[in-house]
Amino acid sequence: MGRVYFVGAGPGAPDLITLRGARLLDACDVVLYDALVHPEVVALARSAQPIAVGKRCGDVSTDQRFINRLLVEMASRYAKVVRLKGGDPLLFARAREEFDALEAARIDYEVVPGVTAALAAAADLKIPLTERGVSRSVTFATARVGTQISSSLSTGAPAGGDTLLHYMGVGEMGRVLSELLDRGMPPDTPVTVMENASLPNARSFHGTLSRPPFVETVAGPAILGIGSVFRRPADENANTEVAAAGRLA
Ligand code: SAH
Repeated sequence: MGRVYFVGAGPGAPDLITLRGARLLDACDVVLYDALVHPEVVALARSAQPIAVGKRCGDVSTDQRFINRLLVEMASRYAKVVRLKGGDPLLFARAREEFDALEAARIDYEVVPGVTAALAAAADLKIPLTERGVSRSVTFATARVGTQISSSLSTGAPAGGDTLLHYMGVGEMGRVLSELLDRGMPPDTPVTVMENASLPNARSFHGTLSRPPFVETVAGPAILGIGSVFRRPADENANTEVAAAGRLA
């Protein structure tokens, strides 16, 4: 029986993987990777068989049960299996289901963390997510619930922290923002959409709860940031776009 390493590939830029993750890729026999992982990261697995397992929200992706089975099968055939996931493997990545499948088959596994997309987006924009007197808490959230899961089973708590980071949230932005307004969040609370964080084509779009950013042209993966830390020096700039976030001098 082999061992499975869940490795965080980082948010996009291929040099944002950890050294431990890169070393495991270099030494592994097979790598199962998700769609958002940069090809240069997959290429670090020099002598491994690469297997794409889809997973790009909105697109057709490989059935999760199929991935679970494939993982077990690969671990019974190879000594070192890397399960490469975008960002961090323990955030919005269905890791619990894959762990359960491995445990049921008595296969050992370990986890190597990665830089999650929201932290890369904050780095691009040079926005501290906590700030003395402004924000003491950060919430990682998503408005998406699984197709077989009734939304009443979700936590029902999209808000919570001073700084809110919504994954897979751009398609649902209208609903998310109006829910926050209904809960009494001030209408002038800054909202920033951060697309393709850490990549050369990164962009950000700014607005407020009541004047949401224009996101019609957003096609890449994007994070919704909500909270006072996203306030810009001149917040009358609502509904503006900043190209190549963080790369402006
Ligand atoms: N495990 C991943 C998240 C997977 S869910 C992580 O820790 O980052 C996929 C969602 O992540 C996308 O819908 C988007 O909301 C976000 N995302 C992934 N890469 C991104 C990037 N480069 N820029 C902005 N958001 C990104």
